[in-house]
This record gives sequence, structure tokens and C-alpha cells, in this order.
Amino acid sequence: MQVDQQTDRLNVAGGKSVTVLGATGSIGQSTLDVVISNQGGFRVEALTAIRSVDKLAAAARQTSARFAAIADPALYRELKDALVGTVTEAAAGPAALIEAAQRPADWVMAAIVGASGLEPTLAAVDRGVTIALANKECLVCAGSMFMERVRASGATVLPVDSEHNAVFQALTAGRRSDVWRVILTASGGPFRGWAREAIRRATPQQALQHPNWTMGPKITIDSATMMNKGLELIEAHHLFGLESRQLDVLVHPQSVVHGLVEYRDGSVVAQLGAPDMRIPIAHALAYPERIESKASRLDLARLGSLTFEPPDLARFPALKLARAAMEAGGSTPTVLNAANEVAVAEFLAGRISFGRIVDLVEDVLAVGTRQGLTRAAVNLQEVLAIDHSARKLTRDLLPEIAVKAT
Ligand code: NAD
Ligand code: MG
Repeated sequence: MQVDQQTDRLNVAGGKSVTVLGATGSIGQSTLDVVISNQGGFRVEALTAIRSVDKLAAAARQTSARFAAIADPALYRELKDALVGTVTEAAAGPAALIEAAQRPADWVMAAIVGASGLEPTLAAVDRGVTIALANKECLVCAGSMFMERVRASGATVLPVDSEHNAVFQALTAGRRSDVWRVILTASGGPFRGWAREAIRRATPQQALQHPNWTMGPKITIDSATMMNKGLELIEAHHLFGLESRQLDVLVHPQSVVHGLVEYRDGSVVAQLGAPDMRIPIAHALAYPERIESKASRLDLARLGSLTFEPPDLARFPALKLARAAMEAGGSTPTVLNAANEVAVAEFLAGRISFGRIVDLVEDVLAVGTRQGLTRAAVNLQEVLAIDHSARKLTRDLLPEIAVKAT
């Protein structure tokens, strides 16, 4: 693959073929950045997005992708027009996303946000190829079934979430049976030092200001509530087959140490790096080799000190809620995830206060449990039905939550 200097497009000769599901998002764009900066190694098979036609078409042009799919079927014409004169075939609608995942790529980045990414990601899993997994909601929503499909197809899952990628790397230092515990670090988000009442009244603008990472809006809000770390506990439980008692969270505001593995003998092995998602993306893209990521080099002397503190579960109750959901098992995490997705969207739309996000998730879990929504699902259809019912229940409980005083 070479970059044509005049057009800045990739002229693909060979190499590993890659597909990026969610190509227009924060992770998707960082992935394409790493792909483009490593000329010669990769060829782009398919790219997808929900609605951003221009960004999708620009990415397809720049990478000479063979296929581009937009989730919104009403945007087919627009995408087709935007791709005139390119080698890229245009497609639209939910079936087109599945087709993108099923096309013959050796490596698929799963970077759609939310449970909407589940079906396309599973379509890629079923081909038995390498899945670079950024979309943690897949594992929260359907972890057991997802990992079962991975085993059945022989797919390789490489974690892209920075903490899980760090743990994956640190796990090569010993035997799985000698692992004592795994620690995921958390920046603590924008409200780390804030009082509980001030956090509850925070505005979307304040919550969208993450101190260390630039990410999509949903995960940025999840970081502010620390639900993100809760979802990551569930993600680690499924990825690494660890029990709740083996999983810890440590607040580390500098986001330099991403994850740690403690072994039987007391050795703690950690992975460090600048807070730049291109590092775990490059790791997953080249694995087991290493390529350049364009991320800045870690300069510990300049940083001077790294600090750590325990998470405050009273100010960040989402973490407690997510851990309890993981321990309850069955479809409790599916309900938690669905309620959280709806609650975050409502907060971003200005319809509920920040404090109400977690209140709403808690209420949905309580009512959903009474209604039998948290029973274990036996197949994908059941997972999707529970996800759907939990979203509806969340919307039904919204008026009640919205009128309560903050
Ligand atoms: P984002 O909002 O920036 O991008 C989401 C992508 O998914 C976009 O390409 C969008 O077009 C597509 N998309 C959104 N809804 C869709 C739908 N219903 N159907 C099909 N496509 C849809 O999100 P992001 O920050 O890139 O995060 C993507 C995933 O990676 C999330 O699951 C997130 O938790 C995870 N993740 C992100 C980061 C990060 O630094 N951004 C770090 C770790 C994990
Ligand atoms: Mg993370």
C-alpha cells in the first residue's frame, strides 16, 4: 500500500485487509490514522457509519475502501453520489452493516458505539477472523453469548479498550492460573474532585470535558459518571474469565498506567503509555508484531509523579451498580447497559440532570428485576428482546425521574 503524494490516497498493493465498523467515530478515525500512517501493511475492505455521509465518503476515498455502508437507509443516494468516481461500492441500511462485517477482511475493528454494534460485530466474529474490540457494550450486553460465538468460530479477540489492552499485554508475563487480581485504572473523569451535590447538578457541557481523552459523547459521559469503569469491569470479566473478587479499580488521574496484573508471588506487571488510543489500536492492528502509532512518547521524567487513589463509590455510585449487575449475572448487565444508553442520551438532550442518569439506571434495574427482565437469555434474539424491553422500561420511567428534585 502506498500513499499517492498528490491525492493523499492509499494505493493498495496487498497486505492485511481491514474493515472498520464505526469508521467516522473517535476510535474509527484513530484506526484509519494508524492504517494510513503504516503504508504498505494494510488494505481497507469496508467502512461503516450511522449518518455522517461526508466523513464516511472522505475516509473511503482516502483509503480506497472497497465497500462503504451507511446505517440510515434514507442516506443511500447521498452516499452513492459522494462516492462517484471512486472504487468504493455504496450500500445502506442494517443489512449493509452486516454485509460490511461479512466481507473478507482479516482484521475487523468493532468501533460502533452501544449495543447497536452487537449484530455487525457478531457477523465478523462468525467468520473466525481477528476482532479488535473497542465496543465494550457488546460484552456488557451479551458477554457469555459473545464469547461462546468467539470460541465456536475460532475468532481472535484483541481488546482495544486501553485498560483491557494493557491487561492483555501484562497477562503475557505469567500463567493465567497464577493471576491474583487485575486492576483497571480510571482517570476519575472531570468530576473527580467535585462534591456529590455539585456532580449531580453538572451540565452536559461540563460533563463532556474529559481531562485526558478525546472520545465520542457517550463514553465521555460514561467516564464522568464512572459507569464506563463499571462497564469495563464487566468487559474484563468476560474477556479474561475473571471473577468480581479478582477485579479492582484504581483511580489514576494521569492516565499513564492503563492496567495492572498482580501475580501469586506479589509481582505486579503493568502497561504504560501516553493517553492516546492509537497505541492500543496499533497494538491490535499489528499483533503479534509492533508498528508505529504516531502517539507521543511517554516522558516520565517530565511527568515527575504518578498518583493513585481508591474510587469513591458514594460520589460515583455507577461503579457499585455495575459491579452488582456483574455479580447478579443473567441479563442484569444487559438491562444496566440499555438503561444507561437511554439515560445518557436523555442527559445529552437536556431532559434529565446528571445525577438522574444513575438514579434512572438503578430504578430500571429494580423494576426490571421484578418483571423478570434480568433472566438469562439463551440466544441473540432473547438478548435483543431484553435490550429492547429495558429501553422501553427506561423511557416509561423517565417522567417519574424527571420530576423528582435533583
Ligand atoms: P463515537 O460516537 O465517536 O463513534 C461511534 C461510531 O459508531 C461512529 O462511526 C458512528 O457513525 C457509529 N454508530 C453510532 N451509532 C450507530 C448505530 N446505531 N448503528 C451503526 N453505527 C453507529 O464513539 P467512540 O468514542 O469512537 O467509541 C466507539 C466504541 O469504542 C464505544 O463502544 C466506546 O465505549 C469504545 N471505546 C472508545 C474509546 C475512545 O477513546 N473513544 C476508548 C475505549 C473504548
Ligand atoms: Mg477504557
